[in-house]
Amino acid sequence: MKKGKNTAVVLAAGQGKRMNSKIQKQFLEIGGKPVLYYSLRCFQDSPLVDEMILVTGEDAVSYCKKEIVEKYGFSKVSAVIPGGRERYDSVYAGLLACRDCDYVLIHDGARPFITEEILERGMDGVRATGACVIGMPSKDTVKLSDKTGFVAETPDRKSVWTIQTPQIFSYSLIRSAHESIREKDMSLITDDAMVVEQESGTKIRLVEGSYMNLKITTPEDLGVAEIFLNIYRAGKE
Ligand code: C5P
Repeated sequence: MKKGKNTAVVLAAGQGKRMNSKIQKQFLEIGGKPVLYYSLRCFQDSPLVDEMILVTGEDAVSYCKKEIVEKYGFSKVSAVIPGGRERYDSVYAGLLACRDCDYVLIHDGARPFITEEILERGMDGVRATGACVIGMPSKDTVKLSDKTGFVAETPDRKSVWTIQTPQIFSYSLIRSAHESIREKDMSLITDDAMVVEQESGTKIRLVEGSYMNLKITTPEDLGVAEIFLNIYRAGKE
């Protein structure tokens, strides 16, 4: 049987306004390398990934080509392309750039600490259903608020997960879901699973990532990431 081709679409086109930094969060350094380096390294070294598409800001395309792709020898990156205004626009640009792809792994470049084990669990999950998201059971109790700032509901914690990336889909499923949702109101869309949930009947498998798979979003995350980096490196030795 033909082995499917798997493409990672790595997103690095966000402005990172919550970081309060002139440098976009995916280019800030931890352990002397840009945040974006670490997930690209994991995909580059993984036998599960054949190709990468890097999506970044229009003004950062040549920086990424020279200072990240060429500098660190990420030979699986076949294209560095400009993203769009919203995350889903960047994802769509990445999907259009994929060639002959069976499964696509959509990943936030602001999440450095993915591992081969996470990719293995994710690929097992997507092969079973066509759609799989990485996440973790919530450690905290979660409350839904009403519009006036009061508690509206407390979901049973046992069924609450916080969602991470990569989110992995059969290419034809996610491409057609994005095509059909683009004509509608997308203002509430914050991840790719939501696009599939709304546009197809496919059930999405939840697969455990790790509590270290944080998204670097606010300044304090950088301090946490420096500490996590030591644990992450030790796990690879
Ligand atoms: O903004 P948020 O934290 O949800 O961003 C998650 C990821 O999506 C980041 O890696 C960011 O660079 C990327 N992104 C993007 N294009 C946008 C907005 C976010 O590639 N327009």
